Amino acid sequence: MPDAETSSPPYRPLDSPQARDQLAATLIAQIEPRLIAIRRELHQHPELSNREVRTARFLLHRLQELGITDIRANVAHHGIVATIRGRRPGRVVGIRADMDALPIDEPPGLPFASATPGVMHACGHDVHMTVALGAAEVLARMSQRFSGAVKLFFQPAEEGPPPGEEGGAKLMIAEGALDAPRPDAIFALHCYPPLEAGRLGYSSGVMMSSCDRFTIAIRGKMAHGAYPHRGVDAIVVASTVVMMLQTIRSRMIDAQQPMVLTIGKMQGGRRYNIVADEVALEGTVRAFDEAARAETEALIHQIVSNAAAGSGASYDIQYERLVPPLVNDASLVARLAPTLQRAFGSERVIEHAPRMGAEDFAYFAREAPAMFFSLGVSNPAAGIGGDIHTPKFAVDETCIATGARALTALALDFLMADS
Ligand SMILES: [Zn+2]
Ligand SMILES: [Zn+2]
Repeated sequence: MPDAETSSPPYRPLDSPQARDQLAATLIAQIEPRLIAIRRELHQHPELSNREVRTARFLLHRLQELGITDIRANVAHHGIVATIRGRRPGRVVGIRADMDALPIDEPPGLPFASATPGVMHACGHDVHMTVALGAAEVLARMSQRFSGAVKLFFQPAEEGPPPGEEGGAKLMIAEGALDAPRPDAIFALHCYPPLEAGRLGYSSGVMMSSCDRFTIAIRGKMAHGAYPHRGVDAIVVASTVVMMLQTIRSRMIDAQQPMVLTIGKMQGGRRYNIVADEVALEGTVRAFDEAARAETEALIHQIVSNAAAGSGASYDIQYERLVPPLVNDASLVARLAPTLQRAFGSERVIEHAPRMGAEDFAYFAREAPAMFFSLGVSNPAAGIGGDIHTPKFAVDETCIATGARALTALALDFLMADS
């Protein structure tokens, strides 16, 4: 059972939301130095997707220290699901934090910089885990004041499992992470450098794009470079394909429908005087809408097929749907954006445009009404403002208390709202 607050009576309903905010802010201010130490420990020992062994062990110890006993480990490899129960059964609220780091070398500078060469918490998942632990501690201490349960999901491999492996949100759900008790709503946040620390952002409806990956192999026929008419030039066919694929965005999909198609890799040919027999292309498609996503996939097949047929080449396409669009539940957001505005002041909480990046929290958001929001982390005056997925990424650690307060307020308001 979670520790009760030692100085308070067993049950005292905090029926004023402002009183709840105040208590949560006080408790989080008390534990903030410890949370910062936790974040630094996690930051110093980053682990890649599906390899979060040390991270999982560390989280497990912290959760046990909070007195949480309902813990399921090794979910989707190294994931953890922990449940804090209130004084009576009731609604269930989920909080999800991702665990993995990226294959980036962290530049020297911070005293707690990565101790693992080539691996860095450059997407802020160390902050996400810390913020969730902070909310967990406060909610565990307040558990005699609410009905229902808080379910924490520490999720591995958000950045995508290594080739040939499964993992991430999809696997957690497949392994029953959402079962008994099933969340009635689920929350998560992400570090967002365009916003300064102390600020929060959200979108209603689509928040993040889908992410798909495709590879196209174009096969022609080798010939002497002086006699191209005796072969089929895979480079010319691939070049036509690359240019035609750009017309999907500019000429074939409704201009009102956000979609990005990028070819990130093109490889082929043997020598300056040999007509190339094979070219490989790799790219990504991002879309907000499932119909636009499906239409783009079909148009890629059509364009490649036509270009190959028109020149006597053959082809092969592999199209992988990696992550669906992340869609926030509009009514949940309408109900709970005011919670953030109340707790932080409306000038600190902005509604922002959806983004073309992807997030596998999208799978959770398909299972339960969800609200994913942005945690401001930058501090331009202190020179903190590097983008995620770059070696320059850093956060102003005051964002940790902000994130923990935000998740606590959302969870309590959801649990205590009239149904
Ligand atoms: Zn990332
Ligand atoms: Zn991330």
